[in-house]
Amino acid sequence: MNRGGALGKRLDALRINNESLMHGAHRSLEKGDIKAIALSYVDNSGLSRVKAIPFAKLESALAKGVGMSPVFDAFLFDDTITASAYSGGPIGDIRLFPDLESMALVAGAPGWAWAPAIRFSQDGEEYSLCHRSYAARTMAALAEVGIVAKMSFEIEWIVSDGQGDEFIPGCDGPAYGLERIVELGDYLLDILRALEIAGIEVEQVHPEYAPGQFEISVAPLDPVRAADASVLVKHIIRSSSSRFGLRASFAPSVVAGGVGNGGHLHCSFWRDGLNLFSGGSKRNGLTDAGESILAGVLKELPALCAIGAPSVASYLRLVPQHWAGVFRCWGVENREAALRLVEATTLVAAESANAELKPFDLSSSPYLTVGAVAAVAKHYFDKSLSLPEPVGVDPASLSPDELVKLGIERLPKSVGEALDCLYASKVITESLGEELLTAFAAVRVAEVGQLDGKSPEEVVAATRWKY
Ligand code: GLU
Ligand code: MG
Repeated sequence: MNRGGALGKRLDALRINNESLMHGAHRSLEKGDIKAIALSYVDNSGLSRVKAIPFAKLESALAKGVGMSPVFDAFLFDDTITASAYSGGPIGDIRLFPDLESMALVAGAPGWAWAPAIRFSQDGEEYSLCHRSYAARTMAALAEVGIVAKMSFEIEWIVSDGQGDEFIPGCDGPAYGLERIVELGDYLLDILRALEIAGIEVEQVHPEYAPGQFEISVAPLDPVRAADASVLVKHIIRSSSSRFGLRASFAPSVVAGGVGNGGHLHCSFWRDGLNLFSGGSKRNGLTDAGESILAGVLKELPALCAIGAPSVASYLRLVPQHWAGVFRCWGVENREAALRLVEATTLVAAESANAELKPFDLSSSPYLTVGAVAAVAKHYFDKSLSLPEPVGVDPASLSPDELVKLGIERLPKSVGEALDCLYASKVITESLGEELLTAFAAVRVAEVGQLDGKSPEEVVAATRWKY
């Protein structure tokens, strides 16, 4: 057993923390409500794969982990299997360790709890393809330079009451219409109640633009926990949907040509307890480090799309005038700018100032997304970069000449273009490391091959119920 190295230490720290939660007062363990626990992790195709254990096996899982094949690192969205230099075979075993800190009851499935799994090799070393460990590593690197991040994902979904794979909007009310709350009020309350029981702090829930579409936003958290929350909120929404005879789709595109589901990421960065996006002497109240981080994010945004908008269907959503932010520019409260600054104002407290990255969607691994954004922040915070002028109009309304003059480009239009940008980004590729980068890209490239030549309608039909 490798217990001495730095990576072994990570497992030790997790076990010690789990041990104290198990024997202390974990909020979900108090009443003995848990009969079984689903331990899931997000794979390279953005899907959550799971092993579940009866409650009686929890102590053993905390000590030894739960075995699972490494083959899932090569799984595509449709469960076909590719391979890469670092993933693909049926040989070997990875140990899944729950993080009890994020464990939560799932009220829609009585007796069930969920916990994120961290993957370790059999000798206790951090597994290079574990997305959650990547996120934790990048946060640790950020902490080393004195910066703490807070993040949250907006969760958009479309609800259907069609039979089987047929999509029929689960409500008839108009976009943002109060009527949708009348139609699906019980369902929405079921979700809110389940989220409260799970300990997720909901900020808002509202009907969205597309037929049958809703959105839930949750309070910002430590980024690894924010990624956990994204997985858990989707799990809870699915479970409530199933109780109500409905089906939820978090896919980037649910109807070809329509407005899709985003998974916008809100983030802020803090030093010495102060938000770097407020109270500073730079534009819009930004601090020097805050402006430099945002300028870095803008610079790396095409590469970040490969992580945050990684699927073939992502690029059916990423079209102009769909509120998905497909132009590389920033704006204050501009919903067509890829990077939206929510600045501190009279009614937005300094603590609430944040940046929203709009191109991302929920076919991504939230752990890779928070990790890559943190890696960008760590690289650029001390580079004193300046932002260009904010864009105050819909970039799609500008002529090609105006776009060039303002230095505004379209973000990648396909997985292939996005991956080229990713490979060109030293900051993000170095943070991922060769193994994770290779395994991730192999899956995304294979998915392109799988859907090659398909019409948008066919891509949507193949992916609508996968995410
Ligand atoms: N549904 C839009 C998207 O695909 C976002 C709508 C909004 O919340 O501004 O990102
Ligand atoms: Mg929205």
